[in-house]
Formats: sequence, structure tokens, C-alpha cells
Amino acid sequence: MYTLQTDVLVVGSGAAGITAAISSARNGANTLLVESSGFLGGLSTILPWLGFHDRDYRQVVKGIAHEYVMKLHKNGDSSGYVYDPKCSSLVSVNGHSWKILAMQLAQDAGVKIMLHTYMVDTVRENDRITGIIVENKTGRQKINAKVVIDCSGDGDVAARGNVKWEKGRTSDGLVQAPTLVFRIGNLNRSKFVDACKNNALNYREWLKPYPELLEKMQNKLDSSETFIIGGFASLVEKAREDGVLDIPQTRVVGVKLHLEDKLLIVMTRILGLNPVDVESISTAYSRIYSQIPQIMYFFKHYVPGCENILLDEIAPMLGIRESRRIVGDYILTADDLTEGRVFNDTVCMGGYHIDIHRPSGSWVESKNVKAYTIPLRSLIAANVEGLMMAGKCISATHEAIASTRVIPICMGQGEAVGTVAAMAIKNKKSIRDVSIKKVQEQLNKQGVEFGQSLGAPNYKIINELGQLPLVEPPTDGEKDEATSANKHWIK
Ligand SMILES: Cc1cc2nc3c(=O)[nH]c(=O)nc-3n(C[C@H](O)[C@H](O)[C@H](O)COP(=O)(O)OP(=O)(O)OC[C@H]3O[C@@H](n4cnc5c(N)ncnc54)[C@H](O)[C@@H]3O)c2cc1C
Repeated sequence: MYTLQTDVLVVGSGAAGITAAISSARNGANTLLVESSGFLGGLSTILPWLGFHDRDYRQVVKGIAHEYVMKLHKNGDSSGYVYDPKCSSLVSVNGHSWKILAMQLAQDAGVKIMLHTYMVDTVRENDRITGIIVENKTGRQKINAKVVIDCSGDGDVAARGNVKWEKGRTSDGLVQAPTLVFRIGNLNRSKFVDACKNNALNYREWLKPYPELLEKMQNKLDSSETFIIGGFASLVEKAREDGVLDIPQTRVVGVKLHLEDKLLIVMTRILGLNPVDVESISTAYSRIYSQIPQIMYFFKHYVPGCENILLDEIAPMLGIRESRRIVGDYILTADDLTEGRVFNDTVCMGGYHIDIHRPSGSWVESKNVKAYTIPLRSLIAANVEGLMMAGKCISATHEAIASTRVIPICMGQGEAVGTVAAMAIKNKKSIRDVSIKKVQEQLNKQGVEFGQSLGAPNYKIINELGQLPLVEPPTDGEKDEATSANKHWIK
């Protein structure tokens, strides 16, 4: 078997992996990025990027992620930051331009890239992960590395290397419901905006208990291209009663993108998925694809402004919100987020709400959080040497991952682990022995926010847009009838 050698090896090139690889290479490490698809960026190439800010509208994710936004915005390929009372902020991105930029930045940094290459096994010598085995068109290769970073989203390196991981809710092991996202075009924007302003249709259910906030949001709609939709429950209910829509989702969930006639639809759904079982994944795909024509019919016939919509794009991969979570030196909890805990070894931040797409039932369960920090210990795999992780598979509980999983926060984690890995190599130390003070100094130089320059709440935006209370009443949908049918469950 052919053997390759690298200092830092990153598996998976989604939001977390691409940033980890760029950060590692920029910090001087010989870096190899392994990706099973034929492009860089993973899920972040189809979705808007949510949660750069906290609920006080302060920017908690900066560094390389901010650099991406600025570069895209300069060329008209993103909306720039758009504030939102529930999601703090969002950036609508042209996914094609993001794929091109990701490739350019990785190459400029000197990252060696292996595409269409699947990590199939982990090499472990006693208590150290020393590399992986990959398969591609060339055949089977072994890659030795001083530090391996698992950004596969599924904790594949950890699982194959006998490193402890957890999955799903503690009560029943179920993970958040997955969604195959798709985009529609040819929306009649002004008719659609009128529907959003019609209070009877309740386009933004979160804001209904707060009429002042809702009004502020609605007043902005004429002038804003990019905004979130999470409601229209009566339209969904009507289509269900008419027998034309049979999916386990009771709300329209989507985002009006920065391009005038484009809407991203986040409504396909299946329950009971095992994200690391190929039969379960394949069944999910087949059932979810058949939901897309139903949802298109629903939009054309029930949602004002959507009469002539066209199917524009289907995401390149099923959106699996939650999979294996690698157990690290510290497991981040929901309390850490709601209390806004500050850790001594903080390396990045988040402020996005705990956003659980219910594993059973429909719609989402949410808890607002304070600006929180993520400790380096949650990005280092426990009881083993040489393995770090970033993105969807970090060391956090089912609840905490529901916040840390959004794209900017994954990028922040990626930048942190890439920097630490490179510093470990440069100083000939293990990742646990790198001075946290020096890591923080370096991240500070890179423009990363970990609390040092957060400042006061952004009162200008708070006054302009309003703010949801930290504690909100629970949403319904846990025992929804629409989700009881057997066909919506993968057994
Ligand atoms: C339906 C859905 C909607 C969402 N909506 C939003 C949103 O609007 N905004 C937002 O900010 N966040 C959103 N999120 C969350 C966010 O998109 C993801 O959590 C985030 O993109 C995860 O990034 P990641 O890098 O950890 O994983 P991924 O983007 O999944 O990247 C993992 C990469 O690893 C590769 N890979 C996997 N296994 C292997 C292997 N064995 N060998 C080689 N390569 C491998 C994959 O091909 C992929 O490119 C959503 C998530 C879902 C599922």
C-alpha cells in the first residue's frame, strides 16, 4: 500500500474542515485535506450562514469566517450580515462562488487537497491516532500524520479508531430530524412579501407573542432581500386537510435569499434516521426525494407569490443535523450556553440559539443562549493522543450541539483546531501541551473573538430590530399527528 506523510491531516472539508486546513497551513504546517466529494465546503455551499452574532447583536465569530464573508460580499456574492432577532444574524451566500473561493484560499495557503477520497479506516498505535487509510480511484493509501483533525461531521476517524463517541438524545438515542434542502426560483417577491405582512398567515411564528418585534420585522421586509421564514402553519394545515401534503412538518421553514426570486426550502423531513447506517440513509433519501414534488405543489397552490416557481437546485447531500459526537476532554452542555460560561481555555465563541429540529414530533424546540465560549478541551478527543475535531462532531451534548453546529460556529472551531495543530507541530509538543496563552495570543492576531473585544450590547440594532427575551415559552409540535404515520419513520 502506498504511504503518504503529512504534519496535519484534516478529514472532511465542510465549514469546519476547510477552515481548519486553511488555518493550519497559514500557520506553517504541512497540511493535507481529504474529502469524499468533488468540491470543498460541504453543506455550507447550499445554506445561508446563521449565527455570526449573539442575541445582543455583537459579532462573536470573526477571524477566517469573517474574511470569507467580506471576500464574497466584495464581489456581490453574499448578502453581508443581516440581523435577525431569533438567529442573531445570517449571511446569504452564492454557493458556487463560495466553492470557488474555498478552493482558491486553500491553494493560496498551501493546503494539499485530495478529492473523491474516502477515509475508510483509522490507524491507531496504542493510545495515539497516527493516521488513516483512504480509498480513491488510485486505490488504497495510508496517510501518516502527527495530528489528525476529524471534520467528517460523523466522527468517522474517531469511530474507526475506537475513540469514544455518543449519538442522539440521552432518553432514546434519536438524532435531530434530517432535511434535504432545495432552492426554488421565479418567486414573485412582492406578492410573497405581502403574504409575510398578512398577520393571519403568521409567517414568523416566533415573533407572534411580541407584536412590536413582529411589526419591526414586517416593516423591514420591503427593503430587505434576505430574511427567515418559520410559520405559515395554517397553509400547511390546509394542504394536509386537502390531502395534497403528507410530510412530518407542520410549518414552512425557509430563507428568502439575497437573490430577488430565490427561496431556500428546508421542509423535507424524515424521522428515526440512523446517520451512520447506510441502509437507513438510503431509505431516508428515497423517501425524502418523493417529498419534493409534494412540497413544490404545496408552494405553487397555497403560498402567495409562488404560483410560477421553478425547482432551482437540490442540495448535493442529505442534511444530517446530528451524528456521532466525539467525547472530548470536556463535554459542552446546554447550561454552558444559556449561562454564557467563560472557559480559561476558550478558543472560539458562539451565540446562536439551541435549535433542535425535533427528533420526534415536528418543527423545532429552541432555547436562547448568551454569548458563550468553546473550550479547547471540547475539540480534543479524550483518552487518546493526536486527535482533534471541529464541526458537527465536537464534544457537546445533544442540546449544546444544536447551537454549535451552525456554519460560522463550525468555522470558528475549525480555525482554532487548525491553529493549535500547527503550533503543536512547530513547537514539537503534543496538542494538549501547547500553551493556551500562546494559542489565544495567536488567535487574537488572526482576529478571532473569544471574549476579549466583545464590548457592550449593540443598542443601535436592539432599538432598531428589538430583542427576544432570554427565556421564551416552549413551542408546540412534540406530539404532532402529522408525525405519527409509520411511513414517516425509518425503523
Ligand atoms: C438541513 C440542514 C439545514 C441547516 N441549516 C443551516 C443554516 O441555514 N445555517 C447554518 O449556519 N447552519 C445550518 N445547518 C447546520 C450546518 O449546515 C452544519 O451543521 C454544518 O455545515 C456542519 O459543518 P461540518 O463541517 O461539521 O460538516 P459538513 O458540512 O457535513 O462537512 C463534512 C464533510 O466531510 C466529508 N466527509 C464525511 N465523511 C468523510 C469520510 N469518511 N472521508 C472523507 N470525507 C468525508 C463530507 O463529504 C463533507 O464535505 C443546517 C444543517 C442541516 C442538516
